[in-house]
Amino acid sequence: MNSLPLSSGESRLAFLVTFLVKCVINSIVVTLIGSVFFFAAIEAVAFTHTAEDGSEYKTFQSKSMGTLFRMELAVPSGQNGREIFDACLAKLNVLEARWSPWIERSDVWNINQSGTSFVSVDGSTFDLLARARQISELTGGAFDITFASVGYLYDFRKHQRPNTDQLQAHLDAINYTNVQLDVEKMQVQLADSRVKIDLGGIAKGEAIDALLRLLKARGVRSAYFSLGGDSYVLGQKKGYSWMLGIRHPRSEDTPIARIPLEDVAVSTSGDYERFYIDGGERVHHILSPDTGVSADGLMSATVIGPQGWKTDALSTSLFVMGAKRGMALIESLPGYDAIVVDPNGKIFATSGLISSGN
Ligand code: ADP
Ligand code: MG
Repeated sequence: MNSLPLSSGESRLAFLVTFLVKCVINSIVVTLIGSVFFFAAIEAVAFTHTAEDGSEYKTFQSKSMGTLFRMELAVPSGQNGREIFDACLAKLNVLEARWSPWIERSDVWNINQSGTSFVSVDGSTFDLLARARQISELTGGAFDITFASVGYLYDFRKHQRPNTDQLQAHLDAINYTNVQLDVEKMQVQLADSRVKIDLGGIAKGEAIDALLRLLKARGVRSAYFSLGGDSYVLGQKKGYSWMLGIRHPRSEDTPIARIPLEDVAVSTSGDYERFYIDGGERVHHILSPDTGVSADGLMSATVIGPQGWKTDALSTSLFVMGAKRGMALIESLPGYDAIVVDPNGKIFATSGLISSGN
């Protein structure tokens, strides 16, 4: 039982029965199989090798959108892997310039500077704002881009957080309905000048989807790529599913699960990404919109599904919602699965991952 046989995606669920029941629930660590394995949030080693069909696999990494961007891809014949990666990087940099709250004149920066005036934004931004709102509605407000109305008062590097007075003065500005979208004019208006937005819980997943379109347009049929905790596995690698390791929130070396996957996005949100400890309390970057303080219902949440923007937003949502409500939500969404770790280190997985369905 120390090895997981690899096979095509059809048997993903069957694998997961074995792997979760034997390995996760019983907390037994399984030995890694072959080279087709990655941690969802850990740096890869660069290498080049050749697949059976003759296509060459190349690995690249760089930084964009404030995080590590890495990619392993089978380079289609006649194309240059570096050139494909550079095109992806250029795309990410365009999106960062559009959605970063820190880059002057980005759409998000413009909105946050606007007070309550109407702001014209790029169509892609408008569309993303509309989908962020959908997720807010779906999650009963657990996902809320206006968390930033309080969030901007945190500085994790400087170990700073808002005091009680500051929190009280800004807390009621957090409400996704404070972002008004005028579909005809493609303009955005904040309902209150204290409102700020931040797309940090959805933009990287949206970027993953954009990269997928770019790779497909260039004929790439096999790739693994990640932007921090958001990733995608395209096709198979050398006739096998890609093996993805979900890291343990308190140990980089010990995955909580290794899952064979293909053609899905995988997003992990954890309280270990940006945090500091204050008097024993972990102050981190995922805030509960109700309280304006760090959500404490989970240590990590991983969501697997067809669309990166959604797995990204849902992983952040689950973190706020906690295991019970969060897992019930994912169970209700066809095509989506999740694995979460609660504050006691207990692991919960959706039924799609622990039953073979037959
Ligand atoms: P990361 O990969 O950056 O850790 P996550 O998907 O885990 O991203 O989301 C964390 C980010 O989401 C935070 O850095 C912040 O920008 C944003 N965020 C924090 N709390 C919320 C919330 N309640 N709703 C929506 N976005 C949030
Ligand atoms: Mg997320």
